[in-house]
Amino acid sequence: MFLRPTTLREATQALAEGGQVLAGGTDFFPALGTRPVTGTIIDVTRIRELRGIDLASDQVRIGGAITWREIAAAPLPRCFDALRAAAREVGGLQVQNRGTIAGNLCNASPAADSVPPLLILDAEVELTSSSGVRRLPLRDFIVGNRKTCLRSDEILSSVIVPLRLQDTPSIFLKLGARRYLVISITMLAALLSHDRNGRVGVARIAVGSCSATARRLLELEHDLAGQPLRHGLSSLVRASHLTPLSPIDDVRASAAYRRDATLTLVRRALDGCVEAQP
Ligand SMILES: Cc1cc2nc3c(=O)[nH]c(=O)nc-3n(C[C@H](O)[C@H](O)[C@H](O)COP(=O)(O)OP(=O)(O)OC[C@H]3O[C@@H](n4cnc5c(N)ncnc54)[C@H](O)[C@@H]3O)c2cc1C
Repeated sequence: MFLRPTTLREATQALAEGGQVLAGGTDFFPALGTRPVTGTIIDVTRIRELRGIDLASDQVRIGGAITWREIAAAPLPRCFDALRAAAREVGGLQVQNRGTIAGNLCNASPAADSVPPLLILDAEVELTSSSGVRRLPLRDFIVGNRKTCLRSDEILSSVIVPLRLQDTPSIFLKLGARRYLVISITMLAALLSHDRNGRVGVARIAVGSCSATARRLLELEHDLAGQPLRHGLSSLVRASHLTPLSPIDDVRASAAYRRDATLTLVRRALDGCVEAQP
């Protein structure tokens, strides 16, 4: 059975009786391989509550069925620069037109491009079922390689970003085996805010594709805070700052290459953040 509900209530009631959620299908169908679709499919792309981006003074709420293309085009504050840049690098235009933010998060690939840009924004996810709504920090939602805490009766209804650093520019860098249409070897998002004395106020750096789930580099963030926010800041980055990462050897790159490339990318991102300061 194929259902296309227009309200979250209808969708969660249907899901409570069993079935699978479908959004853009860009992960869903490739994962099936040659197997046919079975059971009830609940297409969430027409649900009103999942379709908007709401900017309030204290937070931004992005509906789960918002596509990459819509994120790239949205008038979001500067702290979202990294997410918008990631949106422009996911697959090609066809994938960006269909693929959704919730699909990317629920698929929970270690190479999911939305995760580092949302981790540096301290994003939360809102999960809705017929029995209620719960909110979780994104860092607790994705628990492993393609593993999340989503229950089978829940829909990821929105991504919520608190607006604490809205005017702070953020950066997204992605390294793949070629420039376009590529799953990353490593990628990261970073932001640096400045305090009144021209020093780093808040530093946030998150790296994807180098561990089962994307990770913030908390020790580096701590070491950067309070440092003069000027060129040369990136020379503070040491290989030991990448300790939270556990890259693997695979078809795309060796673990050693991933580590090396990530170190370079982190330094470049910090240089970019310094240059982008308002
Ligand atoms: C050619 C190609 C290139 C790609 N390139 C990239 C890339 O560069 N970077 C990248 O990160 N990804 C890439 N992807 C993966 C994919 O496009 C993204 O992860 C996309 O955001 C998935 O969204 P979707 O709406 O298509 O999800 P779907 O395929 O519809 O769903 C994916 C999973 O999430 C679940 N789901 C979807 N929405 C919800 C919801 N609201 N609530 C609960 N569960 C939900 C589904 O049940 C399914 O398990 C690529 C895919 C293809 C085919």
